[in-house]
Amino acid sequence: MAATILDGNKIAAQIKSEVAEQVQKLTAAGCRPGLAVILAGHNPASEIYVRNKVKTCQQMGMLSENLTPPDSVTTAELLQMVDALNRRDEIDGILVQLPLPPQVDSKKVLLAVSPEKDVDGFHPLNVGNLSTQRPGLVPCTPAGVIEILRRSNIAIEGRNAVVIGRSDIVGKPVAMLLLNNNATVTVCHSKTRNIADVARQADILVAAIGKAGFVTEEFVKPGATVIDVGINKITDRHEFEKFFAGDAVRESSFAEKGSTLVGDVDPHVAAVAGAITPVPGGVGPLTIAMLMSNTVKACEMRRGQRRS
Ligand code: NAP
Repeated sequence: MAATILDGNKIAAQIKSEVAEQVQKLTAAGCRPGLAVILAGHNPASEIYVRNKVKTCQQMGMLSENLTPPDSVTTAELLQMVDALNRRDEIDGILVQLPLPPQVDSKKVLLAVSPEKDVDGFHPLNVGNLSTQRPGLVPCTPAGVIEILRRSNIAIEGRNAVVIGRSDIVGKPVAMLLLNNNATVTVCHSKTRNIADVARQADILVAAIGKAGFVTEEFVKPGATVIDVGINKITDRHEFEKFFAGDAVRESSFAEKGSTLVGDVDPHVAAVAGAITPVPGGVGPLTIAMLMSNTVKACEMRRGQRRS
């Protein structure tokens, strides 16, 4: 039987409608949530991401600010910008879009964001909060993975979860969130031996590797839930055929654009899995939805406390 497709667009829309409601209530109480995005220089991919973030903020009814220093910006100038945003009460979330220009000390800039406004959840204080199960801001994509499971009624507690990938942005926080939700968690990486055998123990398998179609059918226990975080652009016809031969919809879009997106999971895995997230339209849409949700949470944690 083919796997259930976990529709990320639908889940993201649910979350955004809940966020919009919360924004309305907070605004009525004199506390309109606000997100500031710093986009340094001209990076076409970053410009698209930021445009989408700003647009979604506006749809949610949030205050949105976009700071666009030039390519030549220095670390000191960015630190000054972050410091000014840290001090402004109406700004609840600060997002520094990566990558920053090469002359900038990115770590220093990210560390300067106040942990209370760190809606990306990358600050070491928030990393510590997550690992000690204290309230804090959780990275957006990993939080989105949990929302997909939760809102699809896929139990986490007591299940075997395997995460492939151990980046600070995705793999590690996903593993920590699954652990906090009482899964038994194994983390795999490039030095893991017999990785397919390890992955096949999973009731929930999360792939965050950055390699097109890396997870094949032999990695997946029949009936397992597979969450594909990967986003990889393929342009090679041979590679396209390997993943999508016979898929008429993909074929016509590949013919038109000369590229298509594939996750870290080979689409043929859908024949073995019980449930699977598609690419595109799976984890991707959750990232922006969780950024909005984090901004509201940051507003409530910082300004809400003061009100009560
Ligand atoms: P990353 O920082 O490059 O980390 C990749 C991880 O995969 C590393 O831990 C690496 O292991 C592991 N890995 C690489 N090759 C492997 C192999 N052959 N076998 C086992 N493990 C291997 O990537 P990332 O930032 O976590 O992103 C992962 C993917 O998610 C990318 O495709 C990215 O585009 C996507 N992503 C999507 C979203 C979204 O919104 N949906 C957000 C963020 C990222 P080592 O640690 O041993 O090197």
